[in-house]
Amino acid sequence: MRHHSTVGKKERISALGLDREDTAEKFNDLDDVMASPSAEWKRPWWVREVTKPTMDIDWDATERFDARKIQQVSWKKYVGEEKAKELGKRREEKVRQWMIEKRSGYTLRDRALDIAGAQAGSVDTSFLGSWAKTAEATKNEGEMFARDASRSKLTDPARPKPMSPEELGVPCYEGTPQENSRMIRSALRHFGASQVGYVELNDYTKKLIYAEDAMDGKRIEFENVDKAYETKEKRVIPEKAKWVIVFSVQMSEELIKRKSGLMPSALSAAATGAAYGQARNAIDQLQCFLHVLGYQGLMGTWFNGLGIAPAFAVMAGLGEIGRINRMISPEHGPLQRVFKVVTDLPLEPTKPIDAGIMNFCRTCKVCADECPADCLSKETEPYWEPKGPWNNPGHKTWYEDSPTCRTWWAVSTAGCSTCFAVCAFSKKNISVIHDLVKIAIAKNRILPDKVNAFFAKMDGVFGYQDQRNIDDWWGMELPPRGTKNVKGTQLD
Ligand code: SF4
Ligand code: SF4
Repeated sequence: MRHHSTVGKKERISALGLDREDTAEKFNDLDDVMASPSAEWKRPWWVREVTKPTMDIDWDATERFDARKIQQVSWKKYVGEEKAKELGKRREEKVRQWMIEKRSGYTLRDRALDIAGAQAGSVDTSFLGSWAKTAEATKNEGEMFARDASRSKLTDPARPKPMSPEELGVPCYEGTPQENSRMIRSALRHFGASQVGYVELNDYTKKLIYAEDAMDGKRIEFENVDKAYETKEKRVIPEKAKWVIVFSVQMSEELIKRKSGLMPSALSAAATGAAYGQARNAIDQLQCFLHVLGYQGLMGTWFNGLGIAPAFAVMAGLGEIGRINRMISPEHGPLQRVFKVVTDLPLEPTKPIDAGIMNFCRTCKVCADECPADCLSKETEPYWEPKGPWNNPGHKTWYEDSPTCRTWWAVSTAGCSTCFAVCAFSKKNISVIHDLVKIAIAKNRILPDKVNAFFAKMDGVFGYQDQRNIDDWWGMELPPRGTKNVKGTQLD
């Protein structure tokens, strides 16, 4: 039986003027929502879909990467155990001292926000879903789902397991790749995602899946099996799981800009941690959603997931690679974090885009100039040569010095994101003038380098790089998660 849900009484909607053609669409049920163009990914008209990303890729030179080489895992190895230990000790002392001093941006209150945002209510990401090691689903009398509130603790080994269609005694969900793509986008937005795209795994894009897991070094392999499985040595992705759901979670720009000069504060760091915290829940919910539909949703054992985030984001068309060697989207700039789940639910791949972003980065060097640790490239043209083992070769970009970046986090005591905060694309997407600039960046063919350099300079002239008052953040009226683009806040 279909349960229709209405959005509200027609008269009330009419009284509010929301039934006008130009202001609202009418939905009768979830099928209508999914069939509506608003469930599709509406990009600004000046964002061009392309067959190849704006970043040059040499697939023959690209190999599957050992995720243990990333700086988050191997920083101590890169800087040396002794130095890392010393930096850690000094960091701890500074954290405590600055709390006692009540230093703006580093108070106990600021630290609490950073720590809690990344932590509270979150589940650990896992390959097969957070419930995979729990007991079999046990259907309660009169209930559709296996549910037992007394056993809902995340750490409880007998945590209830969501039921599959087989356990429910119903057929699996079936839809066309287009319908499935719309459905996943609608569901993921509901779970808190911002942008959602899809990549099909082929001989090339499989190279973007890590060869070894970041946390435990288990091999990640593809096999011709029906179900994903895990042993002590490896995690196996079935060949039939050919699609990667790539999505982003937005970061609060009001928060990320509360740094202390060019130094990150605990408050600006809280923008990043909260996005990861929210994403862990969104990933768990997505894996659960797929499981209940009768499909597999596979994730890594860490937030960094099964594959290289910026690469998948570029292939899915969420954005382009920028000078910070991370994805920058036309809508939210770099102010988002990217996550991936591999699935056997057939999806319609989204295409890479060209919105003039990578080209803009050639002449705009704001992030590199403002990086307090000097670890971003100031070369005009991107290059093929990686800076170190933490970079995966095979594409042309501005490779960064990751260990030096991470060392700066220890010195400054907070997760740095100054380059994200100062990026020319880190703006609220509501102002007409910002849209006009983005259109010019995407479309202008008359002396583009000169025009882009002018826009980059104007960014500073208009005060977008100015210091924001850190403590004011605590008194601001912000929307949930601080990510909605609303007028009336300080950065408008
Ligand atoms: S996050 Fe790293 S690269 Fe970015 S500004 Fe800070 S130190 Fe530089
Ligand atoms: S600050 Fe400028 S150069 Fe750096 S990533 Fe943003 S747009 Fe590109």
